[in-house]
Amino acid sequence: MKKMKKILALALAGAMVLSFAACGSKDETAKDSSSKETITFGTNAEFPPFEYVTSSGTIGEFDGIDMAIAKQIGDDMGKEAKINNMEFDSLLLALDNGQVDAVIAGMTVTDERKESYDFSTPYYTATQVMIVKEDSDIQKASDMKDKKIVVIQGYTGETCVQDLGYEYEAFKKGTEAVMELVNGKCDVVVIDSATAEKFVGDNEGLKIVEDPDTFEAEEYAIAVKKGNTELLNEINASIQKMLDNGTVSELSAKYLDVDTEEDASGSDAE
Ligand code: GLN
Repeated sequence: MKKMKKILALALAGAMVLSFAACGSKDETAKDSSSKETITFGTNAEFPPFEYVTSSGTIGEFDGIDMAIAKQIGDDMGKEAKINNMEFDSLLLALDNGQVDAVIAGMTVTDERKESYDFSTPYYTATQVMIVKEDSDIQKASDMKDKKIVVIQGYTGETCVQDLGYEYEAFKKGTEAVMELVNGKCDVVVIDSATAEKFVGDNEGLKIVEDPDTFEAEEYAIAVKKGNTELLNEINASIQKMLDNGTVSELSAKYLDVDTEEDASGSDAE
């Protein structure tokens, strides 16, 4: 018995030495496994079908059109694409302080954003739309005037409603905004078209109202720090390839079709 204990103790000691040794070589191991350099993309994974959290996504738990594009950009650059998920409002600041190399977040190129950041070749065209209850009398943007409007903070939808001069309430997440509508606490949510389609598909009794005279076309592109031409060129080469060989259209069709209900709402619809 004593002998047994001794053997066990020795084995334990041996294991500890081994694990210390493993600790000692941790740096090297880390270098080995990531000998592939990384490119870190900032996103806000609250925006299906472009980015959302799921059990097994394209990059870790993150999936969607943008995540597949980010992964391909990484592959094309010979780098491992990583995702840093944060609030939409923090994304461009994260570029400033070097937390992320690029932002991919269904982000619309606007003149204001272009003043401080560089944008890639656009890869998707969208527009703002209105999500309303099926029996709503809202038919065009001006019908929102005296209605309770909800937008998502920092999205171009907020700017659009501001420009119209209407009062609104801003939420941090699209899912929260849509829940307000489902629960009858607001009359309309202004949000990007493809994401609206997802939310309407995931919730009963809602419909989309478009008003192309009021809401202009918006182009999504990847943002990098101003002057980071080297990275921008590599990103652009990769995007151009994906536009030319049909990857972007395939991804759009695929993810518009994927049921992201659980991922988008974080709970069952019932
Ligand atoms: N396209 C909108 C914007 O750029 C919303 C993007 C998003 O929520 N991820 O503001």
